[in-house]
Amino acid sequence: MTGILGRRSPDPILGHEDVEEVLQAALSSGRLAHAYLFAGPRGTGRFSTALVLAASFMCRNSRTGWCGECGDCRRIMRLQHPDVRITFPVLGATKPEEIADLISKRSGDGTTRLAVPGNSAIVIDAVREIQARMALKPYEGRGRVEILLDVDRMRQEASNALLKSLEEPPPETLLILTAERVSGVIPTVRSRAHLVRFGRVPAETVARILVERTGTTAAEASRAAAMADGSVGDALSLAKEGPVLPDVVRRGIELLSLAEPSGIIPAVRVMAKALGVPGSTSLCAGMCAILHDLRRLAVGSPAVFSTPDDLPRGCGWPADSLGKAVEAFQMCETRIRANVNPAAALIAAFTGAWHVLSSSDAKRGEVH
Ligand SMILES: [Zn+2]
Repeated sequence: MTGILGRRSPDPILGHEDVEEVLQAALSSGRLAHAYLFAGPRGTGRFSTALVLAASFMCRNSRTGWCGECGDCRRIMRLQHPDVRITFPVLGATKPEEIADLISKRSGDGTTRLAVPGNSAIVIDAVREIQARMALKPYEGRGRVEILLDVDRMRQEASNALLKSLEEPPPETLLILTAERVSGVIPTVRSRAHLVRFGRVPAETVARILVERTGTTAAEASRAAAMADGSVGDALSLAKEGPVLPDVVRRGIELLSLAEPSGIIPAVRVMAKALGVPGSTSLCAGMCAILHDLRRLAVGSPAVFSTPDDLPRGCGWPADSLGKAVEAFQMCETRIRANVNPAAALIAAFTGAWHVLSSSDAKRGEVH
């Protein structure tokens, strides 16, 4: 089926033809479910697709897609439509201004993550606000759309409250929920929403999206795409950081090559401070990519992520130790995403990887 939904440039749901087909069929036949659950890894386009679906639901010019040009479509894509509301995990102390601020940042850069760091969750008050809005007529649109992000991080009482809206949705209302893990969504909510799964996006598609949206070079896009592991969101962040990243990664490899570990902690602290949270997760991805390539070279396979110039020579680290070092940085990235302090997580990963690599029988060599 030709993608009416994804025909824009840039195409918000590029890489998910299967998803597009399901939604397009529902729109074309007038059989849109009243609630959808978009499940899949972070950065795979669930939120962009939610906006496209919201625009298709509200568009004044089309009943089976979105025109991208009417006032409704434009304001939905800019996250400024009064009848398309976005709810995401917050902390008890989060102020409404902070929520508005995050939404406006996301509207501006297209990459800011809509979640308050820390042990945040969708709280029952937010669900009650949704219910109050749903009881009212739309302000100006054809209907009303409520987008709830990360419902796998919704407290039980909030989930129970949401059930009511899912059971008896007012007419002309569409609910779009997103979650990383379907298993984290309580079954009663899960069973009342139409599940749509988002897989990781193939690296070549991620690279195409990067070129389209950021104008970066094809080579830089391929590198960022390879490091982003199927996440367009991560790749966009990586591309935004630009060529700085390989230098940081090179520095990281130098640290692993130190003869003594005492220099690691202060150096990593400085790096973490300069990089912040997104830069630190990118550093982990970059370290994984380079270590992974070193491991491949150690077993006689060609490198996947790096050009020969990127790779340090003469480290002599054995494959199994390199594999463990990759795991240390994968774990580190997961921990930072779970809101562990980046400096603490990176120090643990670098010292852990250093010990694994130096306890191997490897001969340490110069890093070029
Ligand atoms: Zn429109």
